[in-house]
Amino acid sequence: MIIAANFKTNHTRAATKAYLAKVTAYIAEAEISDEVMVFPPATALCRSEGDVTVGAQNAWPTDNGAYTGEIGTEQLDEFGIHTILIGHSERRHILGESQEVVAEKFAYFKALGFRIVYCIGEPLEVRDAGSETLMAYLAEQLEGIDLGYGNLVIAYEPVWAIGTGRVPSENEIELIHGALAKLTKAPLLYGGSVKVGNVAPILALKHVDGALVGSGALDPDDFCKMIATA
Ligand code: PGA
Repeated sequence: MIIAANFKTNHTRAATKAYLAKVTAYIAEAEISDEVMVFPPATALCRSEGDVTVGAQNAWPTDNGAYTGEIGTEQLDEFGIHTILIGHSERRHILGESQEVVAEKFAYFKALGFRIVYCIGEPLEVRDAGSETLMAYLAEQLEGIDLGYGNLVIAYEPVWAIGTGRVPSENEIELIHGALAKLTKAPLLYGGSVKVGNVAPILALKHVDGALVGSGALDPDDFCKMIATA
């Protein structure tokens, strides 16, 4: 199983340090063998600690240069960061990243051998239009992405489930993950309003290989409880 915490625009460097200390101690004590990842904001990036991999929520496909507000691999290398989220719905829909940009990032970080957690997910109106429309929408979000890349993880995160407390039914998740499993051998994470209270049945689904958690993982104690479930 892969359990990942996406802090988004939450937590300071100090809070991230304290968080990592708590989670690494728990993993060591409980002898957890699952893959655990934490994605802090850019200002709190740091080296991976213990068995927790620290990844970047975003970076521009460059080593350095003139990209105001962005970071590149020069900044990631400072902390030995080799894991990145690409295609998160907030970057696609709020920050306006097109599939072209997302695919360019994928190609760049793939060439460097990064572990890529690649996110896809549909808005509510697409989901309501039926499974054929939904699968076509997800296929578009996979355009230009090498699904055979060995260091790829895919996170299915319906936009309408992110931060809303709404979660698709287990059947719905299994349907999408089952279809994705036909396209790729990459581990498949579910994301969108995963909490301590609902993580177990989601992780128990046949084609779910882990979870990408936002608000439900901001408290390190809650994140440890989810790791324990995995
Ligand atoms: P959420 O976010 O758990 O707060 O819904 C998940 C995500 O966006 O990765």
